[in-house]
Parts: sequence; C-alpha cells; structure tokens
Amino acid sequence: MDLSALIKDLEGVELETEASVLRRKSRDYFWYSPVLKRLLQDVMGDLVVCPRDETEVVRVLRACHAHRVPVTPRGAGTGNYGQAMPLSGGVVLDLHRMDGIASTSGSRVVTGPGAVVAAVDAALRKAAGQALRIAPSTAATATVGGFVAGGSGGLGSVRWGGLRAAGNVLGARVVTCEAEPRVLELRGDDVMKVIHAYGTTGVVTELELATTEAHDWVDVLIALEHWTDAARLAQQFAESDGLLLNELAFFAAPLPHDAFTAFQPAFRREQSLVVLMAAPSALEAVQAMARRAGGEVVYRADRVSPEVRARLPPVAELGWNHTTLRALQLDRRITYLQTRYPDLPALERVRARLGDELPMHVELMRSNGMPSMGGLPLVRFTTEQRLQEIMQIHEDEGCAVFNPHVYTLEEGGWRRPDPLLLDFKRQADPLGLLNPGKMVAWERPDFDFGSGRSFVFPGLRGVEAAA
Ligand SMILES: Cc1cc2nc3c(=O)[nH]c(=O)nc-3n(C[C@H](O)[C@H](O)[C@H](O)COP(=O)(O)OP(=O)(O)OC[C@H]3O[C@@H](n4cnc5c(N)ncnc54)[C@H](O)[C@@H]3O)c2cc1C
Repeated sequence: MDLSALIKDLEGVELETEASVLRRKSRDYFWYSPVLKRLLQDVMGDLVVCPRDETEVVRVLRACHAHRVPVTPRGAGTGNYGQAMPLSGGVVLDLHRMDGIASTSGSRVVTGPGAVVAAVDAALRKAAGQALRIAPSTAATATVGGFVAGGSGGLGSVRWGGLRAAGNVLGARVVTCEAEPRVLELRGDDVMKVIHAYGTTGVVTELELATTEAHDWVDVLIALEHWTDAARLAQQFAESDGLLLNELAFFAAPLPHDAFTAFQPAFRREQSLVVLMAAPSALEAVQAMARRAGGEVVYRADRVSPEVRARLPPVAELGWNHTTLRALQLDRRITYLQTRYPDLPALERVRARLGDELPMHVELMRSNGMPSMGGLPLVRFTTEQRLQEIMQIHEDEGCAVFNPHVYTLEEGGWRRPDPLLLDFKRQADPLGLLNPGKMVAWERPDFDFGSGRSFVFPGLRGVEAAA
C-alpha cells in the first residue's frame, strides 16, 4: 500500500493523518458486542479523507484503485457491527462534508449522504411540512448515507416498514471503484444494490428518499402488570388500521424500570411497559385501548410542562438500539441480539427458557404488509459459548436471529450470499477495495454458512500479524 503516492495524488482534498483522529474515525459502536470488541479493537485506518463533493469522491476512488488502497466509507460511525471500520486499514472515506440538501419538493427529498438525519427532517418540515418516513433512533447524529447503507429501520417502521421496502428509497447516485470510476444513477429495484450493503458496492453521493406528512408526535408510556399483557396491547395497537403511530415497542419488567431511570417515579419495577409515539388524533383511541387492556397511561408528553418534558428522554431515544445503550451504560456486561418473533407463543417459549438472562425488548414494525415483532432483547453476557446457545435456543423455538456479533453482511443477515450485491460488486469494485472483509461471498465464495463456524477475514489487521 503506497500511501505517500496516494497522498500526493490527493493534493487539495482534505486529509487527516493524526493518530487520535485516525483512531476515532476508525471505530463505531462495535463495542456493543463483546465478541466484536475482542476481534476489532485494534482496527485502524491509515488515512481519513473528507471529500467535499462527488468530483472529489471520483478522484479519491480513482487514486485508491490505482494504488490498490482499501476504502471504507463512513458517515457518523454510529453503526453497531464494525460496519464502518476499515478491517484492512487504508482510507476511511468520511462523507460528513457532503451534507447539502438539494431539494425538498412534494413528497420526496434529494440529499447529500453526509446530511444528518435530523437536519434533513428539520429542512423538510420547514420547507414542505414533510418528514422522513423512517429514521434511526440516532437521528440526531447519524447521516442519511450511513443509515441507508448500514441501517435497516427505526422510527416510522411501524407504519412504513424497513428501508428495503419498495418505495422508501427512490434513488441513489453511486460512484464505482474502478480505474476510471463511473457515476451510476440507481432507481427502482436497482437501489437495493446499495441499501444495507455497508458501502461494499459503491460510494453513495446522493440519495432520493420518499417523505410523508410531518406530525407533532406525542410520547406515551403505558404500564401493565404482566409482560404478555404489554405484548398483546402492543400487537393490538399495531393491528389498529386507523391509529397513526411513529414508534411502538414493549419492554418486559424489570427492564424498563432499570434502563429508563428518568421515568422511574412513574411506574413500578414489576410493571412492563408499552411505549409509543402517537399522532394527537390517535391519543383518545390509545387511551381507551390501554384502559380496556388493564394498562395505565403513566406518561403523556402533552400533559406535562415543557420544563418537565425537557428533563425526560424522548421516546424516540428509548427504543431501538438506544435501549441497549441505556442498559449498557448501567451494566457493562449487557449485550443484545436482533431477532424476529413469529408470534406470542414463540416469544413465550423463548422467555420460559431464558428468563431474566434475556431482558425482553420488542419493536413492532410492518413487514410485508403485516405487523411483526422485531426483537432487540438484551443479553446478560457470560461467555461467547453461552451467547451462541442463546441464539440456538431462539432458532430451536422457530425465531430468526440476525446475529449482531459478526462483522459480515451475510452472517448478520440471512446467512446466505446475496447474488444481487455480489454481481453488482463484481462490476463496481472489481479489485474488492470497498470496505474489505464485510461480504463473505466476495472474500470466500465457497464458505459454508451451515458449518456453524464464523467467517474469519484473513485481511483483518492483527489476524495478518498473528499469521
Ligand atoms: C444508540 C444507537 C441506536 C441505533 N438505532 C438504530 C435504529 O433505530 N435503526 C437502525 O437501522 N440503526 C440504528 N443504529 C445503528 C446506526 O445508528 C444506524 O444504522 C445509522 O443510521 C448509521 O448512520 P451513520 O451515519 O452513523 O453510518 P456509519 O456507521 O458511519 O456507516 C454505516 C455503514 O454505511 C456505510 N456508509 C456510510 N456512508 C456511506 C456512503 N455515503 N456510501 C456508501 N456507504 C456508506 C459505512 O461504510 C458503514 O458500512 C443505532 C445505533 C446506536 C449506537
């Protein structure tokens, strides 16, 4: 890797070589996982490059291709699985300067990848009374490009499904990593080539996203005596066609009391919680349904003073991976899983086998037109072997696991190659320089996903040194 020649070719582009910056920009929230913490803690890029526009991205990719230097795109680095970490070193392509919002017309927005999600939302609201359909709970810091390339769903998914649901991401401009990089306009089905692809198939330089009308969502917390009552009520909310919601989750006791410390005076430790963001028009129905289910509305943001509200965390930062963060801040042994529970009996079977070893958090989201239970349960971590057993118990009970303790796309997903991504990568990144080590099908086409073993990327720094 001839870095000095690369640096010479990049004259005029903003670069960073200072060790502390390199270290900071080479990391994300990989430390949520004790497994990834062990594997990735020494990962470090050699150079941070901050392009200002697409022309500079083309220059960087041309030069990296010429000098055979790996390139790992980066937004704000809030991903959880080492997604934005440069496993083989090389360039960290920090896209935060490409934050211009090009247009906010009708029910769509065209934006640079580096724009912060909350800033896009604010611009949409101001210009058109609109909002993004889906946002991560990290909206205040995450970039739109990082969300589309690394995220999956979040606030809004109860209504709009995930990022990969057709019609949510409308278009993407993508720069390839070739001797002469091409700028491609992906639309329709083709946008799937970059959604949740970890930047392995191209660098996104512009995104067009569908939007929806903005609402003044009201945060609501409902306490119930038994966790299955909370689960049933959340399911009823999710199945109520007329309820306009932006977030819906439930948490089994004692997790909500332990993790949401600011709300502790509002409910008892033995109580489970349904948490939601509702449109003002939905509140009466929410209240009536909660009462019928034996629930107690213990917090409504519209019923407290602005001063009190300002002291409490918003519901938008209680769910998704903010739950894990809050629990981790209180107990360093906590980690988590990503699961899909097909129905309440399956979830009850898992709970019966794992009990308090698996503090339960479930996000309700729409999937293929139906409400579905996306689990983000916490795990009281003991050993890596036990973590594997917990995942196995889920699968034995008919529940899917999307393993967040691995750094590759396939192992964190459906554990099979994605031919669409692989074919596109062959065209867009023939030397495999984009975010190396993240796509197993590229690195090791004969890898057996049924073997029960994890893929180990031979180019991972440290592994290289140990070999
Ligand atoms: C507390 C917490 C809560 C979270 N909540 C959610 C949630 O609700 N929903 C959710 O989906 N995720 C969630 N996440 C994960 C993460 O915050 C989101 O996926 C976020 O949107 C990532 O944005 P980012 O700018 O930080 O991307 P980064 O972490 O910087 O990058 C993510 C991936 O995208 C790639 N990438 C970045 N920019 C580009 C580009 N322009 N072109 C090509 N590839 C690119 C990177 O290489 C990397 O693989 C959460 C994480 C934390 C720590």
